[in-house]
Amino acid sequence: MGELQHYSADIPSVPFAQRPVIILGAGIIGCATAKQLLLNGFPVILVAEFLPGDQDIRYASAWAGAAWHPAGGISAEWRYLQAVTHRHLLKMAQEEPESGVCIVDALEYVEQPPSTNSSAWGKAVASKWRDLQPDEYPSEFSCGWSYKTLVTDPTHHMPYLGKKIIDLGGQFIQKHVGSLEELYRMFPESSVFINASGLGSKTLKDVQDDKCFPERGQNVFYKTDKCRTLYFRNGQEYTYVIPRPMSHGVVLGGVKQADDLSPEPDMEIAHDEIARAHRLAPEIIPESPSEDDLSYIVGIRPSRQGGFRLDSEQQGNRIVLSAYGFGGGGYAFSYGVADALVKMVEKAEQENVIL
Ligand SMILES: Cc1cc2nc3c(=O)[nH]c(=O)nc-3n(C[C@H](O)[C@H](O)[C@H](O)COP(=O)(O)OP(=O)(O)OC[C@H]3O[C@@H](n4cnc5c(N)ncnc54)[C@H](O)[C@@H]3O)c2cc1C
Repeated sequence: MGELQHYSADIPSVPFAQRPVIILGAGIIGCATAKQLLLNGFPVILVAEFLPGDQDIRYASAWAGAAWHPAGGISAEWRYLQAVTHRHLLKMAQEEPESGVCIVDALEYVEQPPSTNSSAWGKAVASKWRDLQPDEYPSEFSCGWSYKTLVTDPTHHMPYLGKKIIDLGGQFIQKHVGSLEELYRMFPESSVFINASGLGSKTLKDVQDDKCFPERGQNVFYKTDKCRTLYFRNGQEYTYVIPRPMSHGVVLGGVKQADDLSPEPDMEIAHDEIARAHRLAPEIIPESPSEDDLSYIVGIRPSRQGGFRLDSEQQGNRIVLSAYGFGGGGYAFSYGVADALVKMVEKAEQENVIL
């Protein structure tokens, strides 16, 4: 009897595995993480102002291209996060067409001879990688590659994730919070909190990360059935044509405008994007597409000087995991980040249950 009393005094009344993990943010990062945690048996509650299916320029995940492209100039650790994401996206493309993930051909034309840390590392991950012959790419480029890659149509993927999370037993609460402290008060029994609030981390009272900044993106959606090949110009000029087979069209871009929050499409940018896309992929994008086949996409990327945060901090009895600042690559890193966060939650679990 004495021993039992000793245990009840030391161990919280709710066992670790039954305390919900609280995620702030329901973009691709928060939702992919929720899915992976739920698949591993952890209870999850997401709190967010914008939820899957919502459309607001500040909700970046609604507007992404979204292509998986091996980023150049990143660390081996970050490359691995992209590789893990590729593995998950490939499985969804093969087994869950409703996820909006599709396998497409990619043609990448490279302006400068590739350096040691170029995007060519992707050949270890993407299938059918092949160096293009000089007559297979426009003469202004130094080389090129073709490979199979994955595109995620966010107009299908975010609603798919929302449903998946509910089906797996997760919960959404639609709410704006002013601070992480507000979340701690809402869930006093929880010990793991994940900050996946994107640009929200700039203004949350107890985060106020000054490195975060909004980076406006604007794309053109062009309706066409020639939507099975991705074109990517790798170099100083930032141009892509990303297929969206499930929406019967392609997304043309791109542009990055730091600290610009304008919601209206800028038609000068749109015309320039169409002209660049036509030069890159004339077989798909005509010089003057019919206005009836065009629509415009505007979204704010949650960028961060020095790159994203993915780390764990002990704050008193709580573990706070930060995963924000993914800029223009949130989809390409998403499931790798989610799996890394699951491992951090498992570490917290181990420390809480092996006393
Ligand atoms: C035009 C465009 C094209 C892009 N193309 C690509 C691409 O091809 N490939 C790629 O990988 N990426 C692409 N991206 C980038 C990608 O969209 C982002 O990196 C990604 O969506 C970021 O996801 P996130 O979950 O971190 O943030 P978000 O999607 O912005 O979600 C943030 C969440 O936090 C919530 N939140 C924030 N603050 C608070 C608060 N105080 N209280 C409550 N809730 C809060 C929001 O409501 C939201 O739910 C593109 C982006 C744009 C705009």
